[in-house]
Amino acid sequence: PEVISVRELAEKMGEDPNKLISDLIALGKFVTINQAIDFETVSKLVEKYGKVAKLEGAEEESEALLEKELEETEDRPEDLKPRPPVVTVMGHVDHGKTTLLDYIRNTKVAEREAGGITQHIGASVVEVETSEGKKKITFLDTPGHEAFTAMRARGAQITDIAILVVAADDGVMPQTIEAINHAQAAGVPIIVAINKIDKPGANPDRVKQELTQHGLIPEDWGGTTIMVPVSAKTGEGVDELLEMIALQAELMELKANPNKKARGVVLEAKLDKQRGPVATLLIQSGTLKVGDPIVAGLYSGKIRAMFDDKGKPVKEAGPSMAVEILGLEDVPLAGDKFYVVKDEKTARKIAEKRQELARESALEKEKRVSLEDLFAQI
Ligand code: GDP
Ligand code: MG
Repeated sequence: PEVISVRELAEKMGEDPNKLISDLIALGKFVTINQAIDFETVSKLVEKYGKVAKLEGAEEESEALLEKELEETEDRPEDLKPRPPVVTVMGHVDHGKTTLLDYIRNTKVAEREAGGITQHIGASVVEVETSEGKKKITFLDTPGHEAFTAMRARGAQITDIAILVVAADDGVMPQTIEAINHAQAAGVPIIVAINKIDKPGANPDRVKQELTQHGLIPEDWGGTTIMVPVSAKTGEGVDELLEMIALQAELMELKANPNKKARGVVLEAKLDKQRGPVATLLIQSGTLKVGDPIVAGLYSGKIRAMFDDKGKPVKEAGPSMAVEILGLEDVPLAGDKFYVVKDEKTARKIAEKRQELARESALEKEKRVSLEDLFAQI
């Protein structure tokens, strides 16, 4: 459903409507200034301007409906089991976020499916050897910032720990500060990876000094922020960084109940020509199983197949795991929440109700669309 006219959106953004019209053409939408565009298109458009669109109203109402259907009771303490941390990598452009994630993925992710295509599902699960045995860490990658901001706009949180990458030859830059602010606003603990220490011009102490001015005091200077010098290129220090993440997670005592219907967040979703709607889900609580009836955003479905971050088919997945699923009727948005419900009929009913609410709130359109600044890009 259409939610806002190009003219009104341009006003809200403080941009030239003609500029938006050409952006829309680039997105394959041919519209005039007075024409209204749908929420998904608004989301894609404003993202180019570092904003995230939020549709107010519909979410809250359908949430209430879901809560009733789910009849969720509070977890008993004895049902809560330790879960891996969900980690995001942030920092200034070119400071090495992608290189670091690639290094971790390529060297630390246990073997991939033989002969299988290495697919990128937007998250990687890494196993780290610690003094207390093997520990898992879930890294959000492509495009982690999208899910992060979309979630923020929807008022939920997916990240437990933020890794702030700062290049030792460049120091604290605008997006470094932005990342610190975002993480602190979300109450997410920061671990600093002082990167590129292999470079001749690297000066880790200067980075520490600069970070101090932004409230991050390194442990070895009497503060509480863990800072690990690394090279995403040579891999130096990466093991220590992973250990520190595991340690931090241990301190946080992250827990979830694996013995109930799964719920969590859509990290990515797309329409695949062969396979239909494909979504990557981050499970936040419960265990997701093949065959489960599910609601994700505005759509329902039944899990037809499920793959882990290595592309391996799996029958079930527990808290903090990311899986790619098939079986949704349509493509949800990144940041949408998902819920397993008792049967397909219920899933359809909730999805229909949500679509109806979305249409209704679309009628009240421009009041309902609000914009928020996007998170620093990965
Ligand atoms: P991003 O924008 O933060 O994702 O940064 P990238 O990972 O794309 O890295 C930007 C550039 O820095 C690339 O050319 C990388 O090869 C290089 N780079 C990243 N990490 C290191 C490192 O530890 N050492 C060196 N020498 N170069 C690095
Ligand atoms: Mg990058």
